[in-house]
Amino acid sequence: MLETMYEADGLGLAAQQINETPALCVVDVPAEMDVLVEDGPRLNPAVAMPLVMVNPEIVARAESESLIDEGCLSFPKLYAPVLRVSVVTVRFLNLKGQLQTCEVRGLLARAVQHELDHLAGVLFVDHVASAEREALNVQLQEMERTGRRQAGVA
Ligand SMILES: [Zn+2]
Repeated sequence: MLETMYEADGLGLAAQQINETPALCVVDVPAEMDVLVEDGPRLNPAVAMPLVMVNPEIVARAESESLIDEGCLSFPKLYAPVLRVSVVTVRFLNLKGQLQTCEVRGLLARAVQHELDHLAGVLFVDHVASAEREALNVQLQEMERTGRRQAGVA
């Protein structure tokens, strides 16, 4: 944007003037929540948080999925099980304009997918109808397997 402004001898420029409306989201999963089980090893020790992502896109997805209760700042106190891919690779620009590629897993992968949904106008409740059908069985299995449920708000 600065280059475009300087080339045009301008003093200022808004993204909308050049059809650039960058998608922007931030994610910060606290270290103690970046685990599969309480006090377990970090799932994403190499990812520096907070993540500030400009024009993020998911470029790879693992096949494994998990069904976990999810919340949203747009829907206070509403939690519902949402089926999401467990590991995704997200590509984005950081605030310095550098292209970054991060493989993220667990709650962080969930939060990234949740925020990218927001950028596309999709809300977590949009996923619930289809997830709900499988909810009972999968959630019971998940609870038996992990012994706990995680709730995140994003
Ligand atoms: Zn949300």
